[in-house]
Amino acid sequence: MKPIFVALIAFLMYFSACGQNKQNANSKKKMEFPIKKTDDEWKKSLNEEQYRVLRLKGTERAFTGKFYKHKDKGIYVCAGCGNELFKSETKFESGTGWPSYYDVIPNAVVLETDYSYGMVRTEVMCAKCGGHLGHVFDDGPKPTGLRYCINSVSLDFKKK
Ligand SMILES: [Zn+2]
Repeated sequence: MKPIFVALIAFLMYFSACGQNKQNANSKKKMEFPIKKTDDEWKKSLNEEQYRVLRLKGTERAFTGKFYKHKDKGIYVCAGCGNELFKSETKFESGTGWPSYYDVIPNAVVLETDYSYGMVRTEVMCAKCGGHLGHVFDDGPKPTGLRYCINSVSLDFKKK
Protein backbone atom coordinates (compact mmCIF):
# COMPACT_ATOMS: atom_id res chain seq x y z
CA MET A 1 0.00 0.00 0.00
CA LYS A 2 2.75 2.43 0.85
CA PRO A 3 4.23 2.91 -2.67
CA ILE A 4 0.74 3.65 -3.96
CA PHE A 5 0.31 6.27 -1.27
CA VAL A 6 3.62 7.91 -2.25
CA ALA A 7 2.62 7.83 -5.89
CA LEU A 8 -0.68 9.50 -5.01
CA ILE A 9 1.09 12.30 -3.12
CA ALA A 10 3.48 12.81 -6.04
CA PHE A 11 0.51 12.89 -8.39
CA LEU A 12 -1.28 15.53 -6.31
CA MET A 13 1.87 17.63 -5.98
CA TYR A 14 2.39 17.49 -9.72
CA PHE A 15 -1.09 18.78 -10.40
CA SER A 16 -1.01 21.51 -7.81
CA ALA A 17 2.32 22.66 -9.30
CA CYS A 18 0.66 22.83 -12.71
CA GLY A 19 -2.16 24.89 -11.26
CA GLN A 20 0.41 27.27 -9.86
CA ASN A 21 2.07 27.74 -13.24
CA LYS A 22 -1.22 28.46 -14.89
CA GLN A 23 -1.99 31.11 -12.31
CA ASN A 24 1.35 32.78 -12.94
CA ALA A 25 0.76 32.78 -16.68
CA ASN A 26 -2.62 34.42 -16.16
CA SER A 27 -1.38 37.10 -13.80
CA LYS A 28 1.39 37.94 -16.30
CA LYS A 29 -1.32 38.77 -18.85
CA LYS A 30 -2.33 41.91 -16.97
CA MET A 31 -0.13 44.28 -18.93
CA GLU A 32 -0.42 48.04 -18.89
CA PHE A 33 -1.15 49.97 -22.09
CA PRO A 34 -1.28 53.74 -22.72
CA ILE A 35 -4.91 53.61 -23.91
CA LYS A 36 -7.14 52.43 -21.08
CA LYS A 37 -10.86 51.88 -21.49
CA THR A 38 -13.38 49.92 -19.49
CA ASP A 39 -15.11 46.92 -21.04
CA ASP A 40 -18.27 49.01 -21.52
CA GLU A 41 -16.34 51.74 -23.30
CA TRP A 42 -14.77 49.19 -25.65
CA LYS A 43 -18.19 47.65 -26.34
CA LYS A 44 -19.47 51.08 -27.36
CA SER A 45 -16.53 51.96 -29.62
CA LEU A 46 -16.21 48.58 -31.38
CA ASN A 47 -18.68 46.43 -33.27
CA GLU A 48 -19.50 42.97 -31.88
CA GLU A 49 -16.94 41.06 -33.98
CA GLN A 50 -14.19 43.62 -33.31
CA TYR A 51 -14.89 43.39 -29.58
CA ARG A 52 -14.81 39.58 -29.67
CA VAL A 53 -11.43 39.49 -31.45
CA LEU A 54 -9.64 42.57 -30.07
CA ARG A 55 -10.78 42.43 -26.46
CA LEU A 56 -11.66 38.73 -25.94
CA LYS A 57 -8.75 37.41 -28.07
CA GLY A 58 -11.02 35.70 -30.58
CA THR A 59 -10.16 34.66 -34.13
CA GLU A 60 -12.11 35.45 -37.28
CA ARG A 61 -12.89 32.55 -39.61
CA ALA A 62 -10.21 32.02 -42.27
CA PHE A 63 -10.95 33.44 -45.74
CA THR A 64 -13.77 35.65 -44.40
CA GLY A 65 -11.89 38.81 -43.46
CA LYS A 66 -11.93 41.97 -45.54
CA PHE A 67 -8.14 42.26 -45.83
CA TYR A 68 -6.80 38.78 -46.58
CA LYS A 69 -6.83 39.49 -50.36
CA HIS A 70 -6.39 43.25 -50.03
CA LYS A 71 -3.55 44.62 -52.17
CA ASP A 72 -3.79 48.44 -51.99
CA LYS A 73 -0.78 50.50 -50.95
CA GLY A 74 -0.99 52.07 -47.53
CA ILE A 75 -0.80 51.46 -43.81
CA TYR A 76 -2.80 48.95 -41.77
CA VAL A 77 -3.80 50.46 -38.44
CA CYS A 78 -5.34 49.07 -35.25
CA ALA A 79 -9.16 49.00 -35.46
CA GLY A 80 -9.29 49.74 -31.74
CA CYS A 81 -7.13 52.87 -31.55
CA GLY A 82 -5.68 53.79 -34.98
CA ASN A 83 -2.09 52.87 -34.09
CA GLU A 84 -0.08 52.29 -37.31
CA LEU A 85 0.90 48.59 -37.39
CA PHE A 86 1.84 47.18 -40.79
CA LYS A 87 2.95 48.61 -44.15
CA SER A 88 1.34 47.19 -47.29
CA GLU A 89 4.83 46.47 -48.69
CA THR A 90 5.35 43.79 -46.02
CA LYS A 91 2.06 41.99 -46.75
CA PHE A 92 2.34 38.66 -48.52
CA GLU A 93 0.05 35.85 -49.68
CA SER A 94 0.42 33.15 -47.03
CA GLY A 95 -2.48 30.97 -48.19
CA THR A 96 -3.80 30.81 -44.63
CA GLY A 97 -6.88 32.97 -45.22
CA TRP A 98 -5.72 35.72 -42.87
CA PRO A 99 -3.79 38.86 -43.82
CA SER A 100 -0.11 38.07 -43.31
CA TYR A 101 2.92 40.33 -42.99
CA TYR A 102 6.60 39.55 -42.70
CA ASP A 103 7.38 42.68 -40.70
CA VAL A 104 5.77 45.18 -38.35
CA ILE A 105 6.25 48.93 -37.88
CA PRO A 106 8.86 49.36 -35.08
CA ASN A 107 7.37 49.44 -31.56
CA ALA A 108 3.80 49.14 -32.87
CA VAL A 109 3.08 45.80 -31.21
CA VAL A 110 3.97 43.83 -28.10
CA LEU A 111 4.40 40.07 -28.08
CA GLU A 112 3.43 37.61 -25.40
CA THR A 113 3.54 33.83 -25.11
CA ASP A 114 0.06 32.40 -25.45
CA TYR A 115 -0.65 28.95 -23.95
CA SER A 116 -4.33 28.73 -24.95
CA TYR A 117 -5.87 25.72 -26.75
CA GLY A 118 -3.00 23.44 -25.73
CA MET A 119 -0.56 25.23 -28.04
CA VAL A 120 2.39 27.49 -27.39
CA ARG A 121 2.11 30.49 -29.70
CA THR A 122 3.27 34.09 -29.68
CA GLU A 123 0.40 36.52 -29.42
CA VAL A 124 0.61 39.90 -31.17
CA MET A 125 -1.05 42.82 -29.39
CA CYS A 126 -1.34 46.52 -30.22
CA ALA A 127 1.25 48.38 -28.13
CA LYS A 128 -1.11 51.33 -27.54
CA CYS A 129 -4.42 49.71 -26.56
CA GLY A 130 -3.49 46.07 -25.92
CA GLY A 131 -5.96 44.88 -28.55
CA HIS A 132 -5.46 41.29 -29.71
CA LEU A 133 -4.31 41.29 -33.35
CA GLY A 134 -3.23 37.70 -34.02
CA HIS A 135 -0.09 35.60 -33.71
CA VAL A 136 3.43 35.60 -35.13
CA PHE A 137 5.13 32.45 -36.45
CA ASP A 138 8.68 31.82 -37.63
CA ASP A 139 7.78 30.28 -41.00
CA GLY A 140 7.52 33.55 -42.96
CA PRO A 141 9.42 34.69 -46.05
CA LYS A 142 12.69 36.60 -46.25
CA PRO A 143 14.07 38.96 -45.07
CA THR A 144 12.67 38.42 -41.55
CA GLY A 145 11.45 34.81 -41.74
CA LEU A 146 8.43 35.90 -39.73
CA ARG A 147 4.74 35.56 -40.47
CA TYR A 148 2.43 37.93 -38.62
CA CYS A 149 -0.94 36.22 -38.98
CA ILE A 150 -3.49 38.96 -38.24
CA ASN A 151 -7.28 39.13 -38.06
CA SER A 152 -8.77 41.54 -40.65
CA VAL A 153 -11.32 42.60 -38.09
CA SER A 154 -8.53 43.94 -35.85
CA LEU A 155 -7.36 46.21 -38.67
CA ASP A 156 -8.34 49.34 -40.52
CA PHE A 157 -6.62 50.65 -43.61
CA LYS A 158 -5.23 54.06 -44.51
CA LYS A 159 -4.69 54.36 -48.25
CA LYS A 160 -1.56 56.15 -49.43
ZN1 LIG B 1 -4.70 49.58 -30.70
